Amino acid sequence: MKSISTNSNLKMMSGQVLNNNGKVSHSQSAEADPSPRQRFQTPIEEAAETTSAVILRNKEMSKRFQLIVKKLSLKRDERSLAAEIINDLTDQLIDFLRKNEKYACFKEVKKLTTGSYYEYVKISSPDEFDVMLIIPLLRIKWEEVEGFSGLFYKLFVSRMPRNDLKMFYLGDCNRISPLKMIAELRTLIKQFLRTSYKGCQKKWNVKLQRKTQGSPAVTLLLWNSEGEQNISVDIVLGLEVPQKWPKCTDDGMNIEEWLSKKTKGDLKHQPFYFVPKQPCRRALAKDLKETWRISFSHIEKTLLMNHGAMKNCCEKGAVHCCRKSCLKLMKHLVHILKEQYPKELSKLHSYCVKTAYFHSMVRRSRDDQWPASKVVECFLNILDDFIEHVEKAELKHFFVATCNLFDSMNFAPKNLKFLLKVLKEQKANQIPAFAPPEEYQQEALVPQSQNLLVKLATSSVILLIIVFFVKIF
Ligand SMILES: [Zn+2]
Repeated sequence: MKSISTNSNLKMMSGQVLNNNGKVSHSQSAEADPSPRQRFQTPIEEAAETTSAVILRNKEMSKRFQLIVKKLSLKRDERSLAAEIINDLTDQLIDFLRKNEKYACFKEVKKLTTGSYYEYVKISSPDEFDVMLIIPLLRIKWEEVEGFSGLFYKLFVSRMPRNDLKMFYLGDCNRISPLKMIAELRTLIKQFLRTSYKGCQKKWNVKLQRKTQGSPAVTLLLWNSEGEQNISVDIVLGLEVPQKWPKCTDDGMNIEEWLSKKTKGDLKHQPFYFVPKQPCRRALAKDLKETWRISFSHIEKTLLMNHGAMKNCCEKGAVHCCRKSCLKLMKHLVHILKEQYPKELSKLHSYCVKTAYFHSMVRRSRDDQWPASKVVECFLNILDDFIEHVEKAELKHFFVATCNLFDSMNFAPKNLKFLLKVLKEQKANQIPAFAPPEEYQQEALVPQSQNLLVKLATSSVILLIIVFFVKIF
């Protein structure tokens, strides 16, 4: 077992450098690299690999993967204190907003906890939280912004003018300005911190983070007196629309085979959201700064939590699957690669990983395709699916099928090509990004040293017996 993993690492090291964290460091940039193929296993090498070697390698990988998943889950427990503080803060904030005299629309505000922490698949940045503050609307009109395949919209108050939204109108028309709404929310939060926030028992300090250009969130920073832990919480405004989903969603969310027609129907009856987010473009025209992005965060959360064809999949006492572990591993891999190549992979968002994961769920819709015991195989399937999306430069938004998250407007082809190369390298080299962490190496050494002791003890006993017999005769 040991020799196989060592061999594979050596094979990799001939073209790359494996650093302490198990990351592959490239000596040259993607474009300058003369022959990346040299690093991959050739078909002859692959053919030479015996079946037992493959089994052993899979066993070794399985052990590594399980340790990583375990480690990532442990982080979740560490975050529970942070979650308690955030919940306390947001509850107090909502209370304050509901009582405010100036803005009637904030009186109905409610909390929607979204993001990976609440989906139990958060893997990195343990102290970052997202909270969506929801403002329920009665009826609005939306107009798709051209050139963004149904992702961005202009919003208008329809029919009866709503007085509570009037102060957020853009100019004279009844168009709702996201920038004005965020600015007012920011002012209210500032006021809340100054006059109303009671803090919490653990003596945490809180302050507003400076405005970030183009960010839809108001970010709060929290730190405790000892300065041991920092937490940041992104508060995002969401307009809840109780109307039929826009037409561009008609071909999306194909979950019939995976979760049933009925589930799809039920979910499509739920409202959807608009969040104040601008397209990610340089030198954005002023008009485009006043756009809203469509959001299905709540449906994503439901799909992640209730992911099995069997309704009780992964519940206590029921059959467990490896879907969540696979998603965590894929997010972990992308996180490591992004840290390693921040420039090239700046557009590789965790939303791409989540989207590809949903497509994999549709593709492999049966529960028996995700057994808990086959985490390596299933993860490699997910990775293969992801590589296919990158190769074809096609990753359809799971809900807005008209939008391709990997088109050249969203992801530069040069960088997509680079991503393809990096992912193929990871696959060909048994995911060096998941190289054994120190604990694993220590753990792996224990049985070996125990073996050595047993061998020594056995040899000593045999030697003693020989000496005993020699003395007697
Ligand atoms: Zn499950």
